[in-house]
Amino acid sequence: MHDSTDEHLLKRILEDNDQLAHANRHSFEHAGAFAVNLMSAPGAGKTTLISKLANELRSERSIGVIEGDMVGDIDAQRLRDAGINAVQISTGRSCHLDAKMISRLIDSNKSPAGDLIIIENVGNLVCPAEFPLGEHLRIVLLSVTEGDDKPLKYPVIFRNCDAVVITKMDLAELVDFDFDRLHKAISSLNSKADLFKVSAKSGEGIEGFCSWLNDKCAMSLKAAEATAHSHSH
Ligand code: MG
Ligand code: ZN
Repeated sequence: MHDSTDEHLLKRILEDNDQLAHANRHSFEHAGAFAVNLMSAPGAGKTTLISKLANELRSERSIGVIEGDMVGDIDAQRLRDAGINAVQISTGRSCHLDAKMISRLIDSNKSPAGDLIIIENVGNLVCPAEFPLGEHLRIVLLSVTEGDDKPLKYPVIFRNCDAVVITKMDLAELVDFDFDRLHKAISSLNSKADLFKVSAKSGEGIEGFCSWLNDKCAMSLKAAEATAHSHSH
């Protein structure tokens, strides 16, 4: 399918992206922020989870959201209506966010303020896996309605993430979701990923997931602060 020129070009695009992602990460750290890249297929419940999260952590964290969508700003508007600081990136024809888009936002001072920055990627389980944005943590959402075999169909994104969040748990029984199969699939790809089961509707698992994320954020910010101190001496 691809000839060697294509391969070469793709390699360069990915290398350029990695470099920019690295710079973005520095910018986030410089601003005292911990960044999360939230990825899933369309409709898994990323925006809904973000609004639950913002609600849950409101008293402990200042949260900024970067919303990636191909067209429009429905999700960003939805979050703003809920009192959450959200900035939209419209990717146009691109089916994923890339580091350049985030870097443009940072350079133009439009990146939202906050010590926890959630980046909602475009709904897609393929290319977001290959385009790091400068995040500290990668989280993949999978709704039970998508099926327990999804990790095996999209192995790259599940292999390279820190946590998998199973959403819409209130529907699990209805769709005969097989958790044993899912556990086997995930652990065959990624033995280190933390696994969470949540339902935005019933509230199941939301608190546990939020406190895990809050801890990750706190630990990382503390480590960054210690490094900054040791540099200043
Ligand atoms: Mg969304
Ligand atoms: Zn894409």
